[in-house]
Amino acid sequence: MRFDTIAILDWSGGNDRGPTPKKDAIWVAVCRGGVVMPPVYLRNRAVAFDWLADLCESEIAAGRRLLAGFDFPFGYPAGFAAHLVGRADPLALWDWLAQRLDDRPEGNNRFALAGQINGMFPGVGPFWYNGAAADVLHLPRKGNDRTFDGFPERRLAETCAKGAFTCWQLGGAGAVGGQAITGMAALSRLRARFVDAVRVWPFQPLDGSIALVEVWPSLIDGAVRAQQETGEIRDRAQVRVLARTLWAMQDAGDLAAALGDVPDQACAEEGWILGLGHEDRMQNAAQGRRPAKAPPETRVQGLSNDCFALPPGVRWTPVDEALALLRDRLRPVVAPETVASHAADGRILARDHLALRGNPPGANAAVDGYGFCHGALLPGAQRLPLVAGRSAAGAPFVGTVPPGQALRILTGALVPPGVDTVVMQEDCTVSETHVGFAALPRPGANTRRAGEDLAAGKLTLPQGHVLRPPDLALLSAVGLAEVAVFARLRVGVLSTGDELCAPGATADPARTYDANRPMLLALAARWGCAAVDLGHVGDDRAALRARLDGAAVDVVLTSGGASAGDEDHVSALLRETGAMQAWRIALKPGRPLALGLWNGVAVFGLPGNPVAALVCALIFARPALGLLAGAGWRAPIGFDVPAAFEKTKKAGRREYLRARIGPQGVEVFASEGSGRISGLSWAEGLVELAEPAGQVRLGDKVRFLPYGGFGF
Ligand code: AMP
Ligand code: MG
Repeated sequence: MRFDTIAILDWSGGNDRGPTPKKDAIWVAVCRGGVVMPPVYLRNRAVAFDWLADLCESEIAAGRRLLAGFDFPFGYPAGFAAHLVGRADPLALWDWLAQRLDDRPEGNNRFALAGQINGMFPGVGPFWYNGAAADVLHLPRKGNDRTFDGFPERRLAETCAKGAFTCWQLGGAGAVGGQAITGMAALSRLRARFVDAVRVWPFQPLDGSIALVEVWPSLIDGAVRAQQETGEIRDRAQVRVLARTLWAMQDAGDLAAALGDVPDQACAEEGWILGLGHEDRMQNAAQGRRPAKAPPETRVQGLSNDCFALPPGVRWTPVDEALALLRDRLRPVVAPETVASHAADGRILARDHLALRGNPPGANAAVDGYGFCHGALLPGAQRLPLVAGRSAAGAPFVGTVPPGQALRILTGALVPPGVDTVVMQEDCTVSETHVGFAALPRPGANTRRAGEDLAAGKLTLPQGHVLRPPDLALLSAVGLAEVAVFARLRVGVLSTGDELCAPGATADPARTYDANRPMLLALAARWGCAAVDLGHVGDDRAALRARLDGAAVDVVLTSGGASAGDEDHVSALLRETGAMQAWRIALKPGRPLALGLWNGVAVFGLPGNPVAALVCALIFARPALGLLAGAGWRAPIGFDVPAAFEKTKKAGRREYLRARIGPQGVEVFASEGSGRISGLSWAEGLVELAEPAGQVRLGDKVRFLPYGGFGF
């Protein structure tokens, strides 16, 4: 399965590196959907951990799969873990280190901890190097002072990776020992935080949504050197190029191969460097060369040919199983484009957007009043001389306010140097020359810190977010006048059936006025798609084929002809392509749902009955279109509400009833007939009854899904 996001972290065992980007600090680059975002500088490990936890949280919330790579060893030479924790379990070793490492931005006890570990072995143990002036118990300064030779000097990975350092060396140019201890301890905490999602390669199967892997940028040294920008910090270039490289490997099918190819000894305990043994393919990917072999999966416009395949067996597929299959197999099929933020309401962000400036951009006053330096005053009543001039919004005071003096300042005005606190004018008595007030407010009162709402460089809105009016305010406030959005998903809507005609076209009672097409077109438009009217075709396979062939759309919604009857040409035609599946879903109303690919375009064959067509559109098409459009999966919103109706429900299928809220609770439409279109209009939502048999009595809680939660 593919990763939606690849993040590469360049870790550091050192202390806080300050606010301005520096080398040998922590750098991270994120690639999503093939686009590498500008690398982020993280000044210390505490900041990096929080950043990483935020990333994991947002990836999980968005339903994305994340591969996170770290440039430190995930284990030690075979035998070490058993000595320390009693068994050959590298992850138990991580936890052991995490429990004993005291790690803070200003320093940590890694040398003392390594000494303590050395003390557990006969002679002088495996760790060496001490960066501090004072001696550390059991920790030699030089490698050849060691006498214990119970473990190999290098892991198997380091014997294969030319130039890699041993993890026993804790410091000195190029050493990784300090990074390894602090890194494994940090990842142990991350694992504990996201226990359901995180898996560690190569020790665990990657069946969670987050994979932690070991990387080594030196494997693509040449490409990094070639692609480093003038003046760019090397660590920054490394994470950037490596993130892009792994993405390209994934596209070429080489990432899965590299993840799957690990020696036993490395899998069991030592860990492995991703890409080791696959250097050629990795370097091809790094240098943007085309892969030597074709990708294993042939993708047509982003969707694989078997994307609608159902598990074998003749049976009714439960709704949730059908939804899970769609969710797993569909992905965005639209390209990014740039639009002005003011014109972007309803559009879907194609990448994460970071604030270009903070909000507010500078510290400013929250009220009209008088500003002064808090630290220069004693508690109690004040009488302060006024500085000439004032600071107003858009017209800041130029100069510094001396300690013990005050300046007239208005709401929204920049707080000038020398001012950190503002007293409200309502609390002041003012003369020509002085301002007085009865009590000193708390330090910082009535001021807003620069960036207190959102700091420059912070995530403003994530990829996949559907923009709403307040978002346009936020984007503008942080300087994002333009945004990268996905092109609108073009949704073609087609009705099928010989009996259909346009409303009013004839009085013949044998003909049915086409009711589904206007409904489905309007739904697509409400969902932010470009709705394309593909008209109506009769029950004629050639005509249907011609209409589908001529449609310039990204996805098609048809209605009618989706069953397996004589005149069910949608399903028959899709079956011809070999990529069609008639989904028999355990759902009322709905049942026949034909899903297939026509020339690589997904076709949702909805039932003809308008009630069933709407229910299937809401339950299946809407979340699927969300994925295809780049917004991610959207589950409907529901509430548990007391029932104002009674019903005996059969087992084995999920039911949706037309419903609305009345004074006694949720009411359902008098008839369940699937031709009763008036019930759709009467309703304000659907009641969802789960698969088991059941008896709904007055006042029982039932699930109500308002139309509003379906986006209309
Ligand atoms: P089908 O799925 O083609 O067997 O159609 C099932 C029922 O839905 C039949 O009674 C059709 O006449 C009706 N139907 C199909 N398409 C539409 C439509 N676009 N508008 C109204 N009724 C339709
Ligand atoms: Mg029909």
